[in-house]
Amino acid sequence: MIKDIEFKANELLSSYCEAKNSSIKTPVDPIDVLEFKGFSVDYVNDKYALNIYGALQVDRKVVEVNADVKINEGMENFTIAHELGHIVLHVPKMDKNKMTECDFDSISNDNIVEKEADIFAACLLMPEPNVKEAFYQIRNSRLFLKDNFIFRLIGRGSKRKRALNFASKIIKQGNFKVSKYAMINRLIGLGLIKGLRYQKNNVNSKADKTIDV
Ligand SMILES: [Zn+2]
Repeated sequence: MIKDIEFKANELLSSYCEAKNSSIKTPVDPIDVLEFKGFSVDYVNDKYALNIYGALQVDRKVVEVNADVKINEGMENFTIAHELGHIVLHVPKMDKNKMTECDFDSISNDNIVEKEADIFAACLLMPEPNVKEAFYQIRNSRLFLKDNFIFRLIGRGSKRKRALNFASKIIKQGNFKVSKYAMINRLIGLGLIKGLRYQKNNVNSKADKTIDV
């Protein structure tokens, strides 16, 4: 399933880059990719609850970003790329007569559609070759995180803290515009970080809505 989604994200990136006559470069601008797909972004106020970051208006071909919520650039990029995931993976299969709502909150309830959109967003914003290039410029081998009290004693902190520090380095090295948690999860998914479970992304705990015609 993950490989299929990655394939679709790469396919979109390739056709986007081909149209732009360039190679896949970071940071990937999800708004530009969205426009390439014929959609646009609207920043809306006083429309959605504060736990909703983004919404997809399929009929108007608009992705709405909730401007009432203060999110950083990385999280905003992830929100837009997540909606792009719905556009590529789910809109073609939608029942046009039905209103569909989806939200990140259901992730814990095994909402497959939301998980798929998140995987798509991660693959789109952090293409494997670009992540690997940045990673191997910093390290020669995979990063094994061990919980070691000596690390704590010398102030290097918990595994989570070390992973966050490491994600910052990769983000800087590879010029990505994503949150540190998104990068940690991508590195885990690519097998480049071992010994740590997937981390809950702040974005992942918030909701979005997909509204069909
Ligand atoms: Zn969603």
